[in-house]
Amino acid sequence: MFMHFDASMQIIDDQQINHYKTKKLYLMECLGYVLAEDIIADHNSPAFPTSAMDGYAFKHEDITLGRLKIASINPAGSELKEEVFGGTCIKTFTGSLMPIGADTLIPIENVEVDGDEIVIKEEVPYGFAVREVGENYAQGQKLIPQGTKIDFPQIGVMASLNVVSPLVYDKPVVSIISTGSELLELGQTQTNDAQIRSSNNYILEAITAKYGGRALQMGCIKDDKQSITDAVAAALEKSDIVVTTGGVSVGDFDFVKDVIAELGAEVLFKGVRVKPGQHIMVARKEDKFIVGLPGFAYSSTVTALLYVLPLIAKLQRGKCALRKIKAVLDEPFKKRAGKAEFTTCNLKLIDGKYHIDFKDKKVGSSAILTNMLGDVALLFTPEEEGSKEKGDEVTVLVLD
Ligand code: AMP
Ligand code: MG
Repeated sequence: MFMHFDASMQIIDDQQINHYKTKKLYLMECLGYVLAEDIIADHNSPAFPTSAMDGYAFKHEDITLGRLKIASINPAGSELKEEVFGGTCIKTFTGSLMPIGADTLIPIENVEVDGDEIVIKEEVPYGFAVREVGENYAQGQKLIPQGTKIDFPQIGVMASLNVVSPLVYDKPVVSIISTGSELLELGQTQTNDAQIRSSNNYILEAITAKYGGRALQMGCIKDDKQSITDAVAAALEKSDIVVTTGGVSVGDFDFVKDVIAELGAEVLFKGVRVKPGQHIMVARKEDKFIVGLPGFAYSSTVTALLYVLPLIAKLQRGKCALRKIKAVLDEPFKKRAGKAEFTTCNLKLIDGKYHIDFKDKKVGSSAILTNMLGDVALLFTPEEEGSKEKGDEVTVLVLD
């Protein structure tokens, strides 16, 4: 009996990982990895009151004097010994520590220099242009929680904390195997009319790389039970997730489902009320997963997004990359099956609202991969919902 789509998602969600794989990486290699430790500030930033502009540091109570003697100069990075006394100021630059005794900085633009004195032309309030201790962050503050995907802001903040090699989750290794005796790999010469070019293993390699896994390309395997068994067993040794395409339905040469069971993996589910991809199968052995995707190019792509991405994220304690948004239908949508449906659509942002239509999208079999080109997103219609009218609000999966 095929399972409800939501139930299959729940099973994926409920999987607990026993041992996460982590490693330390040099900061500049961490982009796209998920943090496996909290990043906590070990100091105040700034650690001392610091000048935010170029100007003259002085005691604000002296503002009424109108004139101050320039007692010294204080470039950024210098360890100034002099203090500011009443009636004097010290020329101080952006990023310089505020001299002891000064509480305010008057910018260069606000004064005129007259010999060794400044004349205040435009007053500033107390504390002006002084960055207080901890303005940026305070010692002990948790700045980045573990589980965060490292992007450029995290790199910058970690650099400012001198975190040279953060602890990150290893990117899961995803082995990719396409099954089918009709398949030709890239560049392989065609020898009979029944052969087709394989796209699945390449699109899956790209999806894996884009969404935080490390792909191990295993190529195409003939529909021969022993070859498939050997390939899946070898892949399972080397990887965290094994993804196969093809051979999961009910044909005479669909061996993948038998192979998965024979390898001692526990089948989490097989068969989901989802279109495309109803023959999807997910199994688990220890902390490793085997995902048997259907063969049709569109089916394997959509089911990889739905089932492989959350597993890639889960093995890194991260969040799944796909976002669901609400959008307005710009034309009617005909629901074709009593299952959850994922339909390619064009996504546009008009006046701050998302809109979708199906212009130039072909209706046909799940072999049509070109529907994935363009500003594509996936319209999600749950099993319980039917056809939709123009103007209806719908749920859309964004692939960014
Ligand atoms: P299967 O699930 O093995 O019955 O395959 C279903 C359909 O998808 C058949 O028309 C296959 O030729 C096609 N197909 C299977 N594997 C691939 C692949 N790697 N690339 C493109 N199409 C494929
Ligand atoms: Mg096949």
